[in-house]
Amino acid sequence: MAKVVVIGGGWAGCAAAISAAKAGTQVVILEKTDLLIGLGNVGGIMRNNGRYTACEESMCLGASELFTITDENAMHKNVNFPGHNHATVYNVLKIEPPVRKLIKDMGVEVKIMSRVVDVDCEGDILKAVILEDGQRIEGDSFVDTTGSSGPMGNCAKYGNGCAMCVLRCPSFGGRVSVTGRCGVNDMIGERSNGDFGAFSGSMKLLKESLSEDIQKDLNENGFAVIPLPKELRNEKKLDIKVCQQYALHEFAENIILLDTGHAKLMTPFFDLEKLRSVPGFETACIVDPYSGGKGNSIRYMAVSPRDNYMRAENMKNLFVGGEKSGFYVGHTEATTTKIQCF
Ligand SMILES: Cc1cc2nc3c(=O)[nH]c(=O)nc-3n(C[C@H](O)[C@H](O)[C@H](O)COP(=O)(O)OP(=O)(O)OC[C@H]3O[C@@H](n4cnc5c(N)ncnc54)[C@H](O)[C@@H]3O)c2cc1C
Repeated sequence: MAKVVVIGGGWAGCAAAISAAKAGTQVVILEKTDLLIGLGNVGGIMRNNGRYTACEESMCLGASELFTITDENAMHKNVNFPGHNHATVYNVLKIEPPVRKLIKDMGVEVKIMSRVVDVDCEGDILKAVILEDGQRIEGDSFVDTTGSSGPMGNCAKYGNGCAMCVLRCPSFGGRVSVTGRCGVNDMIGERSNGDFGAFSGSMKLLKESLSEDIQKDLNENGFAVIPLPKELRNEKKLDIKVCQQYALHEFAENIILLDTGHAKLMTPFFDLEKLRSVPGFETACIVDPYSGGKGNSIRYMAVSPRDNYMRAENMKNLFVGGEKSGFYVGHTEATTTKIQCF
């Protein structure tokens, strides 16, 4: 039986593993942290605008598993917030265990805390990847879904420092570009001022640390819009976001919150003292990234050139998906890019 090795267990890696398992192959996922779904543990927004169509199309094409799970774990459906309609917001606190169970039930081997640090290539064929502890994992085909964010050296250099995002590089080690190790020249995103990468576009507040009125809005409507005093508006922050679909004036003039289990604040970072000066936020507590008062994860640091079959440039048996395969911004995009490989 052919063996597929998926490196990186984010939404893209999970989707790749499911597609490969359904195609009848032996599949193993290697994930450096102790959680699957990667950045999916901090997002939550699904089905907003064109993503609704993408979800429905994927389900009709037979790739319904992950979308069914995000729908089942929705805290709110049909949420309309500035610039966005009919969004579903899943609970980031509950989403990972059902995905892990689904994947294991499909017979996929999940190796967590397994960080790939090197490769063994023979010309354009990848023979094996090497884990941090020296283990060699061989396969017939490999899929690099290691994302495009971090490692922490990049966040420190091009962002406002390591913000301890969900990838937790200080504990689990940085992302490693498998395609880069194979000699592929990865592309790096560039901001208009010439800096590399882009900031993740949102941070999370502990819902219970906000005023009762705000909590009520979030629980009942799924979102809350709180006008910002003029002196706290910062239009410049819109330009540094990965997610340019949220770079609208409303997101600079207001605090826009979405209920993902936490209160998701739609801005890359927010000085805590200034935030606490806004009525309703006097005791606000940032929970992800923990240093969200100052910075956020830097993304778009390594995107692989590839063909339309998602094969990494100049490689025969190495494929890419999710943020690794293009400057994509979301869960839906990550999930659907990987379905196409198998
Ligand atoms: C704060 C924040 C909020 C967001 N909110 C939303 C939202 O609401 N809606 C939305 O649609 N999108 C949102 N996004 C974007 C979305 O989460 C990502 O675009 C998408 O999840 C990327 O998936 P991926 O699988 O390509 O990469 P990732 O999620 O980055 O997954 C890569 C995985 O590879 C692992 N890995 C890396 N290197 C190695 C290695 N060497 N060995 C083994 N494993 C490795 C990582 O630990 C990680 O689990 C948000 C992102 C952030 C950061």
